Amino acid sequence: MAEFSIIDTYFNRQINSSVDLGVGDDSALLTPPPNQQLVICADTLVAGRHFPLDTNPHAIGWKSVAVNLSDIAAMGAKPHSILLALSLPQIDHDWLKGFSQGLYDCCDQFGVSLIGGDTTQSPHLTISVTALGWIEAGQAVTRSGAQIGDYVCVSGQVGDAAYALQHLGHHLQKRLDYPTPRCQLGQKLKGLASSMIDISDGLAQDLGHILKASHVGATLDLDQLPIDAALKKLQQEKQWQYALAGGDDYELCFTISPQNYEKLLQQQLDVDITRIGKIAQEKGLTFVQNGVDHSLQFHGYQHFA
Ligand code: ADP
Ligand code: MG
Repeated sequence: MAEFSIIDTYFNRQINSSVDLGVGDDSALLTPPPNQQLVICADTLVAGRHFPLDTNPHAIGWKSVAVNLSDIAAMGAKPHSILLALSLPQIDHDWLKGFSQGLYDCCDQFGVSLIGGDTTQSPHLTISVTALGWIEAGQAVTRSGAQIGDYVCVSGQVGDAAYALQHLGHHLQKRLDYPTPRCQLGQKLKGLASSMIDISDGLAQDLGHILKASHVGATLDLDQLPIDAALKKLQQEKQWQYALAGGDDYELCFTISPQNYEKLLQQQLDVDITRIGKIAQEKGLTFVQNGVDHSLQFHGYQHFA
């Protein structure tokens, strides 16, 4: 049976000792660590919609895991394992080899095991990954905790992936194809950040979710946005468009009190963080440049728009 030989050949590697039962039975088995909550999310990538059809399969495998680990990180949780639901138009061994290698490379980098899934045939290549993680009960960082006076911060750089999508072959394409889930930073922000989200649909729109859930507003300083040198050569409005409305960044945007921000700065972090604004009482998102109000309208990515 082709289905079972695909699973055995490409998706049945040794799993780590924290998994009681992995690929091969009707379900996987895990023992929850004491006093931890299960954190769980899913994300689907559809060929032609979420990535160009000719994207390198290794990158597709990496990204399908990375976007899920980014959601786990955005809760402050530690990623543990993933499930993979794969719909393939045909069996293409070169593609499966590259894809599974990319998927396992991302899993290995972040200490995650593939513990099960489903493999089916369908006219469209579709990859759906479910990720599981753990967090101490009650410690998850949600979108609803931002407080007036908190700083708004972002990790890494924003706008790189959106720029790369329009300039394929540019060195920033690795930021589009191989996003880095901010797993270490996310866990360090547990107990420090008041709210958090990962940026998949553009900073302005995703920060907007925090503002709505927290019933507050924010002011962002356009001069502080962490933008790559390649984008800095563009006209300013264009730079802001990429940085605020470009998708696929997979950076973390979070709010944090000034006191906790000082504590965070004393920690060793594997990615830069930038303070880009402040939470305010007045609803909505406003922008300043050189200390002067600047009116801008941005719309991030929307499905069914
Ligand atoms: P069932 O028919 O009971 O749903 P399947 O035949 O679909 O089981 O799958 C057999 C085993 O292989 C299960 O443990 C399942 O979790 C695993 N599996 C199926 N497809 C994948 C995949 N793409 N990646 C990882 N594990 C998979
Ligand atoms: Mg099945």
